[in-house]
Amino acid sequence: MTADPTIIALPMGDHTFPLDGDFYPGQTVVVGAYAVRHRGGVFLFDTGFREPGPGDDGELRAFYERYALRTRPLPEVLASGGVDAAEISAVANCHLHFDHSGQNSRFPGTPIYVQPAELAAASQPAAPGRPDYTLPEVYDFPGARFEPVAGDHEVAPGIRVFASPGHSPGHQSLVVDTSDGPLLLAGQAVYSRGEWIGLHDAREGHSSAPDTESYRRSIARLKALRPRRVLFGHDRQGWPD
Ligand SMILES: [Zn+2]
Ligand SMILES: [Zn+2]
Repeated sequence: MTADPTIIALPMGDHTFPLDGDFYPGQTVVVGAYAVRHRGGVFLFDTGFREPGPGDDGELRAFYERYALRTRPLPEVLASGGVDAAEISAVANCHLHFDHSGQNSRFPGTPIYVQPAELAAASQPAAPGRPDYTLPEVYDFPGARFEPVAGDHEVAPGIRVFASPGHSPGHQSLVVDTSDGPLLLAGQAVYSRGEWIGLHDAREGHSSAPDTESYRRSIARLKALRPRRVLFGHDRQGWPD
């Protein structure tokens, strides 16, 4: 009998929505990534916010300030979870917005599993009414090694990416098989524990999704997996605990 994979939560930081903004004014939102230690290595799901750098332009610096963004270097967060960054054998991002893929560039040459629809969305240039999808350096860095996989796909023994579009066109979750049943890393396919259990006032992920119909269908597909535990990209609390 082989040991079940273990999930290591990686608290990557948080940001606070501006008081004069349209979304959740004043609310602080955590950003979580996860490492999955399995018999073949350590699989990384999400890389957190990109860290501010000295070369950042004024617009980006203003954004970081307006959203009171606090981020931590991924190797440090990994180390506090008992993982050496050199152990990471493969990566997937739930989607390529820069709060989930911001430190991908720490992994040149490491396979990064991505849905083709997500890669296409990220590489579209900004246009009026369509702001930048993400920052180019999160998907187009030296040594970036994307492995496009469409739909559900096994990426390591007992670990698969699971297509869950809605928040973004190529959103994906991660399903980890264990002897007790599947563990689900939902990413942002479900915004919070409250939304997962269907609390009436916790439909924020659904109502703000660019494609609400896909979002709804993805949740139904994730529920059909009957996971024994669910963890989220923007909620410190998982389900059932
Ligand atoms: Zn996003
Ligand atoms: Zn997010």
